[in-house]
Amino acid sequence: MVDPILYVSQCPVCDQGLVRIRTFSQLSHLYSICQCDECDASWTSPTLAQRISRIDVDRMASECTSSHWSSLEEVCLFGWAGFIHPNQRINGIENK
Ligand SMILES: [Zn+2]
Repeated sequence: MVDPILYVSQCPVCDQGLVRIRTFSQLSHLYSICQCDECDASWTSPTLAQRISRIDVDRMASECTSSHWSSLEEVCLFGWAGFIHPNQRINGIENK
């Protein structure tokens, strides 16, 4: 079974996509950011208080060995589980 791709909210930038949590891995280090799956707008945390420029995201991606939409386990690891959209916390699956 494939885990649903978690999201935090609708994207406030493009109003089309969903803000999802993306994890970058570099050796044993993990970094997570929030990113819209449509317009790629990015933020440092699920509060969406601080944007990350596309240049910085590209640099992270180039410095890391891989990146993927975060699993629930990773979201919990970063302490962001409380930011997951209520639809997904209740139903488990709400893919779009
Ligand atoms: Zn967007």
